[in-house]
Amino acid sequence: MEAPPIVLEALAEILLTQLFRRRPSEEARECYMAYIFDPAVRRRVDEARRTRSRVRLLPARGCHFDLAEIFARLNHRFFNGELSPCRIGWSARPSRSVLGRYDPAHHVIMISRCLDSESIPLEIVEYLVFHEMLHICIPLERRGSRRVVHSRAFHEAEKAFPNYRRVRERLKKIFSS
Ligand SMILES: [Zn+2]
Repeated sequence: MEAPPIVLEALAEILLTQLFRRRPSEEARECYMAYIFDPAVRRRVDEARRTRSRVRLLPARGCHFDLAEIFARLNHRFFNGELSPCRIGWSARPSRSVLGRYDPAHHVIMISRCLDSESIPLEIVEYLVFHEMLHICIPLERRGSRRVVHSRAFHEAEKAFPNYRRVRERLKKIFSS
């Protein structure tokens, strides 16, 4: 992938400042993000990422919950069954900091294995899958040089989940301890 020199300079600055845990300059970020937001570039970045790494994923059927079944049920109930099927599975490691993730490059939903437990209520797992499913159909928004993953539209859509607030509270309680 060939990027213009000015973009490479911006990227170098960003990587260096990350290395030293400082904030890159606004110009460097703007420049790099403008480049990244070019759809043609995005596609190539996604392709490169796709070939570079295959996502490590455990099968959807866990010990307590079957993610594929949950996906199908939620797709039918909230998305008219119109969401294109994606790979879904449990994370290899039971992370408590990243509970779910949607990877658009691989079209993969990963849910943390720490949730595949009898102590976790079904609605919590369903909510997390629902959240990641929304990432499939609600695009990122751009505000200046920032990418807004959870936009206002996203939060509004999330409220369609039954007992949204209660589920969020339960989730917080479980993972703050
Ligand atoms: Zn999210």
